[in-house]
Amino acid sequence: MTSATAEEYATRLAETVPAVRHRIEEAARAAARDPGDVRLVAVTKGHPVAAIEAAVEAGLRDLGENRVGEAEAKRAALSGLSGVTWHFIGHIQSRKAPRAVEVADVIHSIDSLKLARKVSRAAEERGSPVSVLAQVNTSGEEAKGGLEGPAVLESIQELAELPGLRVLGLMTMAPFVDDERVLAEAFAGLRSVSERVRAATDRVGPELSMGMTNDLEIAIREGSTMVRIGTALFGEREGA
Ligand SMILES: *Cc1c(COP(=O)(O)O)cnc(C)c1O
Repeated sequence: MTSATAEEYATRLAETVPAVRHRIEEAARAAARDPGDVRLVAVTKGHPVAAIEAAVEAGLRDLGENRVGEAEAKRAALSGLSGVTWHFIGHIQSRKAPRAVEVADVIHSIDSLKLARKVSRAAEERGSPVSVLAQVNTSGEEAKGGLEGPAVLESIQELAELPGLRVLGLMTMAPFVDDERVLAEAFAGLRSVSERVRAATDRVGPELSMGMTNDLEIAIREGSTMVRIGTALFGEREGA
């Protein structure tokens, strides 16, 4: 975890938040889309509580974490904080599903039916559904995880029937490449899955969580409604 102070983060964010918002606006405008339709999720993983305090002070209200333990520790340290939405964006081991449901307001990374069932059950047990996105592997890269293959539409529909889940939409991770055409294909692939699945069921919402620091413009051009941005806001993470 990097150890910058809240003041150092505040100084950085005074530059980076407007810069990232500008990138989002330009990309939306170029695609004839409303910039207000693209939510900025500030990915605070690997940065300390001080970074989150500075982020909230800078007007960011959507925070993204990718480890259950780290998210729990940060939420506990910031228990007085209200008006923020906690997004969970990392792989979840099935046995941690109940903790993920407690710590996250929106889980982006429902990457298998098995996990979906566990998360749904945990949400039912606590007595209220949890908002999720179904993660789709659009790159074919094995390390990416997510629902994939010829049965992907059926899998998403099955997932959407689970009583503990409110499926806001779909999420994908782009492949680790610079080739804009390959990235655009992955994002367009997610949009296409979304269109097809939404033609078949009304239990899947329109959100498309796609785009990170290096590819947010392409993602917005292809229809992203949530970009997950870490490095461009907070700088490099330790060990990254
Ligand atoms: C870390 C992470 C991000 C943010 O990546 P940056 O390149 O730092 O913007 C977005 N999405 C997921 C799933 C991540 O794990």
